[in-house]
Amino acid sequence: MKSSADLRELLNRIDHKGYPAYKDTRGSWQFEGYVLSIDHVQGDPFASPSKVSIHVPGRLAGFSTELYDCKHKRIALQDYLIRQFSRQVQSFTFKAKGSGKSGLLSVSRCGQEILERTACEIDENGSVFLRMEIGFPANGRTINARELCKILFEFLPGCVKKSLYYRSLDAKSVQKNKELAEDQQFIRQELLRLKLAAFVANGSILPRESGVSDRPMKNAVPFSSPKSMEITLNLPNHGTITGMGIARGITLVVGGGYHGKSTLLKALELGVYNHIAGDGREYVITDNSAMKIRAEDGRSIKQVDISMFINNLPNQKDTVHFCTEDASGSTSQAANVIEAIESGSSLLLIDEDTSATNFMIRDELMQRVVNRDSEPITPFIDRVEELFSTYGISTILVAGSSGSYFHKADRIIQMDHYLPRDITESAKKEANAFPLPEEPAAPSSKPSVLRPVRPDAAFRKNDRIKIKIQGKDSVIINHDTIDLRYVEQLADSEQLASLGQLVKYAQLRLFDGTRTLDDTAKELWKLLEKKGISAVCDGSYIAGGFALPRKQEIYACLNRYRGLKL
Ligand code: ADP
Ligand code: MG
Repeated sequence: MKSSADLRELLNRIDHKGYPAYKDTRGSWQFEGYVLSIDHVQGDPFASPSKVSIHVPGRLAGFSTELYDCKHKRIALQDYLIRQFSRQVQSFTFKAKGSGKSGLLSVSRCGQEILERTACEIDENGSVFLRMEIGFPANGRTINARELCKILFEFLPGCVKKSLYYRSLDAKSVQKNKELAEDQQFIRQELLRLKLAAFVANGSILPRESGVSDRPMKNAVPFSSPKSMEITLNLPNHGTITGMGIARGITLVVGGGYHGKSTLLKALELGVYNHIAGDGREYVITDNSAMKIRAEDGRSIKQVDISMFINNLPNQKDTVHFCTEDASGSTSQAANVIEAIESGSSLLLIDEDTSATNFMIRDELMQRVVNRDSEPITPFIDRVEELFSTYGISTILVAGSSGSYFHKADRIIQMDHYLPRDITESAKKEANAFPLPEEPAAPSSKPSVLRPVRPDAAFRKNDRIKIKIQGKDSVIINHDTIDLRYVEQLADSEQLASLGQLVKYAQLRLFDGTRTLDDTAKELWKLLEKKGISAVCDGSYIAGGFALPRKQEIYACLNRYRGLKL
């Protein structure tokens, strides 16, 4: 391998040349204690920055195997290292000067959730791979190699030394990070063992600082479980922890406006991910497969069997293979439930605030005036028990304005000044005075999931496939915009970047006219689990900037892809 001295010599040689001469820096260079790989060199100073990776061999990185010997610990350590490295490079970005993106140093910005990212990977030998971007400096379009030397020979070595070697990190905080991951994993397993849908520890801080900040609210009312729902777990590191165990089944959350209902539900939605220490939701853990269900007017629906909820539409439209380019509130919410079932979700999270009323309930007066035969919608309330008894799918539902669900709920929680109270008994008693009109809906048949996807010739003819990500809002692939704004459990735009690659991979290699959408999503998920995101990214190197989505979001993305040929 060439040495860092060779790189310095090369840089001296190409100084003041045209920008394309930077391409010669591509390759691996041995620095003291690590290998610097310049994987991709940007075309000009204004293009997206160059991709660089740093490889610290396990023996030098010095992390003991017990810090990364299983998946949850490895992901937690990787996340920790990205944050450490990011803190280091932040003070050096744009310290080297020039035109366009000259001098930019960046690595994935991690939020409150701990996600698996290509920005950092630790292999089975404890070797650390850190992937970042550097804007190679230029004046106009003329190489300024001296500024790049500053970055590669002064700034970076310090950042690497301070953040990617065990010996320079705070051993206690590395240990704490691992212990939290173990405890969180432990709670996830306890959910299965105790047949719980979710756990919310006492003392948790659920509300966020503001609508644009995910940090915990200061001076918030800490969570405290009702005694009747309290369970105590014995975590391997933290020791005993007490909190609210939400059993599987149907849980209703009621309460006055502004008393914290949606805040609790939001925390549960994101409880499918682990959170960092200090987030306030470290011990809010939800069934991994939980799916937020909401109305999503305008979405496209492709051959989804929504007959469980909607039948006999006036225009004779087929609801077993329901298609629309512009769904209504109720049809979109119905499709969202069916797709969640297809994705293997065992917990639905629903907030009345974002639901279609006619999908959720039909009040008694309306039932009398408009009888069942002339109403295409079988509302969710008539299916919620069946979903649990037949499919094992639990529901946690926030409802502030309708009492109908009192009859269906196994447990009723009232949020009262941000504190939950178990009002199951009193609410059930009250509900007895208002019986539901007895006219049970006929049982539904299992939704059909046979949706083979045809290949799209346009993709296979032309290998220049354009993928663009717009924050957490959408993935654009060639001419199709996949709108993911209402897929609320996507936590990071890097997950959308991965979804873009997954769709492309499916277009190029999986859609064949026999493989169904369900098979495709499963196949993609299997690949991700086995080999990580790099399995679906093409190219000769692995780039940073990708985070793992859940299986559920892969389904959600494919289902919203208007370009899909069914
Ligand atoms: P609801 O859905 O019951 O109408 P929200 O969950 O939207 O109420 O909460 C209303 C407001 O109260 C929000 O601004 C939220 O940030 C704040 N809030 C929620 N929980 C707490 C808490 N535990 N302590 C302090 N403020 C809270
Ligand atoms: Mg609300």
